[in-house]
Amino acid sequence: MCGIVGYIGERGAQGVLTSGLRRLEYRGYDSAGIVTLGANNQATLLRAEGKVSELDKLVLSHENKDTVGIGHTRWATHGEPSETNAHPHKAGDIYLVHNGIIENYKELKAELKNHSFESQTDTEVLVALVDSLYDKETLLVDAVTQALKLVVGTYGIAVVSTREPDVIIVARMGSPLIIGVNDDETIIASDASALVGHTDQAIYLNDGEIAVCRRDGVELQDMSAQPISTRVETIEVDMQAIQKQGYDHFLLKEISEQPVTLRSTLSGRVNVEDKLIKLGGLNLNTEELRGIEHVTIIGCGTAYYAGLLSSYYLEQLVDGLTIDVATASELRYRSFHLPKNTVALVVSQSGETADTLACLREIKRRGVKTLGIINAVGSTIAREVDGGVYVHAGPEISVASTKAFTSQVAAMIMFGIQIAQAKGVGVQDTSSYIEELDQLPNEIEAVIANYKEQISAIAKRYAHYDHALYFGRDTLFPVALEGALKLKEISYIQAEGYAAGELKHGPIALVDDTFFEVALLLDNWLFDKSLSALSEVNARGGHVFAITNSKKEIDAEETLRIDTKLDLLAPIVINVVQQLFAYYVAVARGNDVDQPRNLAKSVTVE
Ligand code: GLU
Repeated sequence: MCGIVGYIGERGAQGVLTSGLRRLEYRGYDSAGIVTLGANNQATLLRAEGKVSELDKLVLSHENKDTVGIGHTRWATHGEPSETNAHPHKAGDIYLVHNGIIENYKELKAELKNHSFESQTDTEVLVALVDSLYDKETLLVDAVTQALKLVVGTYGIAVVSTREPDVIIVARMGSPLIIGVNDDETIIASDASALVGHTDQAIYLNDGEIAVCRRDGVELQDMSAQPISTRVETIEVDMQAIQKQGYDHFLLKEISEQPVTLRSTLSGRVNVEDKLIKLGGLNLNTEELRGIEHVTIIGCGTAYYAGLLSSYYLEQLVDGLTIDVATASELRYRSFHLPKNTVALVVSQSGETADTLACLREIKRRGVKTLGIINAVGSTIAREVDGGVYVHAGPEISVASTKAFTSQVAAMIMFGIQIAQAKGVGVQDTSSYIEELDQLPNEIEAVIANYKEQISAIAKRYAHYDHALYFGRDTLFPVALEGALKLKEISYIQAEGYAAGELKHGPIALVDDTFFEVALLLDNWLFDKSLSALSEVNARGGHVFAITNSKKEIDAEETLRIDTKLDLLAPIVINVVQQLFAYYVAVARGNDVDQPRNLAKSVTVE
């Protein structure tokens, strides 16, 4: 959550900071601010409520040539979105931007009697704390280090002082920070996308590390002020991938590029001729794979639903394998037990999800093998897991996750097949999965091309409703949950997903003219049972939109029949239809689909 940028170099800092913030805006967009340091201990602090475009307007009327500064886009945790609560926050000579939550801010605030607080944020407490330790003889880095020792919570921070205008101090505990290095400049960002176009050489800061950033280099130290050697890595982010490329929205671009991104997920891993899967990077040999008896899948939001759908596939693929799927924010505080020979799959698009990261650390502490199903290369989870599969879906900028879901499910199916192979399951039992995985990108491509217009027309018909129920059975149950999540995230229609068989145990009481229902049906042995649920809804005056791969008769207000060769993986294609449906409903309602209200990408706070 939130975006942080920092710049110290020879160029105008305001331009670098605001362009960086624009790239990071998807991570938080309720307010934004920058501060730059100039000659004679001058600082220019500019903050605005709303999007970065509001800040841009302010910058235009306060342009300067300062070459040092820090900036922030906020996703409020403490205090409403407002100019006063926007970062950077100030105390004395110090300005600070912060991503995360200072949990003991009330206790600290009670001690900081000399500072008169202007904002409601936990962040202002931190800057006041640093200032209280920053006397004339103290360096900024030492004051920051001392302050952080008193802090309980999570943070990624960047700090500057008008007394030391040639340095930016950054530190991290739980919130990502990357430091890009060039010959005569240093650029700080909470996400690699803000470094694109500036440098591909960067240092990923670890928890508990503090960096002193200057024009000509970076020094790292730990919380005891002991130096740490710097590790400069090459980052790979493609400029094209973070642009809209002619689409109206990133969301539509990301839905539409799934055939391509999914091919990257599968590339080099699926061997259709020999019907084999080969995942590099698992760091498990055949014997270890054969020994797996239990898989725990952990994720949040869409990643959790990707895990839930994958669990249906994994239990079909590997006889006797037990699986549980957990929401990370719940699991981290449960007294959970992991059976012998468990492998944990840790699923996160950003690789920074705070709750998922906390679970990963707890599971590792128990000595259980962890594997990441991660999109963002070099992210914290990706670096901390024992092994894993990068899903290679490319940067996902729109807040609602789409292409990551599809690639995560494909990656987990491949993992299931690899376990099955190691356990000696016959090729005939896994070959249909491998063939369908191979065909999946083309099938998604065809569905998008052939049904986009129809889906858009149907979406207009349902866009005025206040409530929606999604239902499906078996593999379509997690797909229903994901469909409902997508709709609520971007259209703000209250939408809930249910197992079709559960409707009569409660939810069917809701059916009235303020609701529409999305019924998902697969042409398989459960078709008739799914149809019964649909009839029960119809009998109560429902407004049903059915999505199916079946040609059989269905009595619904609207029916979208997709023509696909796929059988086992048809639910993934049906999910793509739901993504488009949610997109067109949100557009019809005039919403900001890429940056929906109250949300932010990459949930790095609890
Ligand atoms: N807790 C801080 C605030 O509410 C930082 C939020 C963020 O990460 O954007 O201002």
